[in-house]
Amino acid sequence: RLEISHIAKSFGGRSVVDDVSLSILPGQVTCLLGPSGCGKSTTLRMIAGIEGPDAGTIRVDGRVICDDGHATPPEKRPIGLMFQDFALFPHLSVARNVAFGMKGSKTAQRAAVVDLLAKVGMGRHIDRYPHELSGGEQQRVALARALAPRPRVMLMDEPFSGLDDRLRDEIRDQTLDVLKAEGTAVLLVTHEPGEAMRMADEIALMRDGRIVQRGAPYNIYNTPVDRQAAAFFSDIN
Ligand code: ATP
Ligand code: MG
Repeated sequence: RLEISHIAKSFGGRSVVDDVSLSILPGQVTCLLGPSGCGKSTTLRMIAGIEGPDAGTIRVDGRVICDDGHATPPEKRPIGLMFQDFALFPHLSVARNVAFGMKGSKTAQRAAVVDLLAKVGMGRHIDRYPHELSGGEQQRVALARALAPRPRVMLMDEPFSGLDDRLRDEIRDQTLDVLKAEGTAVLLVTHEPGEAMRMADEIALMRDGRIVQRGAPYNIYNTPVDRQAAAFFSDIN
């Protein structure tokens, strides 16, 4: 469970994230939806620990990972990341990419890698190299790698946007199925209302650094908070 309370961030005196609060249960997907520049990626970077918030508290499963006096370093947070430009190591095989950073014996690591690759449907490509895989296949390997430390929370920043439409739908559905089955709390950033409508258990609509509306997709679609929100949803294809 991910709980964010009243986090804020300014750059050079300009407020970019302003009093954002969110809560995501295990196995649930929240879509952070909003136009370019509204503060989505900055919010994710603070949760990941790449950026320090000016104020607010972040908890995972009740444990504080960031507040006034304390910040757990990114690598110690039980949080996985999938960003669009999160490339695989080109000189390492699929197996070694997934095993990267794993502890334990070689045999145990291999077993874990086999298991993870089976989950994402990439078992038969275990000994290939990234350049021998399609973009979608690389994405699945990246997912297996992100799942390896069994994160309680997965942060995804438009990770599917480099793929063509059909493949994107397929990979996105598979990815979220795997994460839901693992009971991971997912925060998925998008600027496409159609994508959020389709994927989200809950949508958090963001504008100018603030969450202006939160709710189930059909609620937000049927009762937008204002005309701007209504206009944003009106061009769903
Ligand atoms: P997009 O959909 O285009 O990815 P976004 O919602 O993810 O947009 P952010 O990347 O969070 O937007 O950026 C929000 C605002 O904060 C932007 O105006 C950006 O220029 C600014 N910003 C982000 N990081 C920094 C930084 N390190 N220093 C100064 N300004 C920053
Ligand atoms: Mg962004």
